[in-house]
Amino acid sequence: MSGRLSCLLRGLSGLLLLGMLLTGCGRGLVIDTSLSARGQDSRVQYVILHYTSSDSARAINTLTLGEVSSHYLIDVNPPTIYRLVDENRRAWHAGDSSWQGRTWLNASSIGIEIVHPGYRDTPQGRQWYPWDQDQIDKLIPLLQDILQRHGLPPERVIGHSDIAPQRKLDPGPLFPWQQLAEAGVAIWPEPARVTHYQQLLAGQTPPLAWFEMALGRFGYSLARQPGQTDATRNVIAAFQMRFRPARYDGQPDAETAAILAALVPGSFAEIGRFTHLAEPVNDLP
Ligand SMILES: [Zn+2]
Repeated sequence: MSGRLSCLLRGLSGLLLLGMLLTGCGRGLVIDTSLSARGQDSRVQYVILHYTSSDSARAINTLTLGEVSSHYLIDVNPPTIYRLVDENRRAWHAGDSSWQGRTWLNASSIGIEIVHPGYRDTPQGRQWYPWDQDQIDKLIPLLQDILQRHGLPPERVIGHSDIAPQRKLDPGPLFPWQQLAEAGVAIWPEPARVTHYQQLLAGQTPPLAWFEMALGRFGYSLARQPGQTDATRNVIAAFQMRFRPARYDGQPDAETAAILAALVPGSFAEIGRFTHLAEPVNDLP
């Protein structure tokens, strides 16, 4: 029996006729796309950068056959860009994550994995592998293209360690965020502002509660597991890895405060709410 005849016979019953209309039953479904709503934007709100912490063959195997995936994979030697998941679909790269109040960011982000070994722990301490400029030269135009197509500003490009600071370190302290910022695909604090705030602080470290307020306003989640005591330290370390990679021990200090103040407008003027500085401090206009 042909599909069309079967469709017709089933349609003799009133109930099934309704079903036929609802399902379109073959070729009946017609949608007029001549109208379009002005109120819409991309489902993509963030671009999340990762390293694979493995070599190319293992990364390809994991990301194509495993439980995790990413929209793009930037290989090395040669630095090929693979698209593994269509941008309209969800890739499984972010996991339990949060940024600017949004959570579980797989649904609202594009994930880019870069083949890179990450670090190795040695008796002398943790050693991070340097980045391959050929891969960064592929990444930058890819980010420019993604941001342009989805109408996103450069601050929407963030690292896995930003959205999951309690459990992730990628893309790590050697990742060239400043170079990305110079190419317009990430942000970096304005040096003059950092210097200005450092001079105002004069070596004084604001209270931890101020750091938590400003880090939260920047985007980080300060949520902690019951009984966890190092949650804020992990968030400060994630921020330092990205913007002050020379030292990312998670300890609050005046330089970190100045960088944070330069990135979070209005936050410096609020230090007084958290402390009793002898002199009133003025924010930049
Ligand atoms: Zn990651």
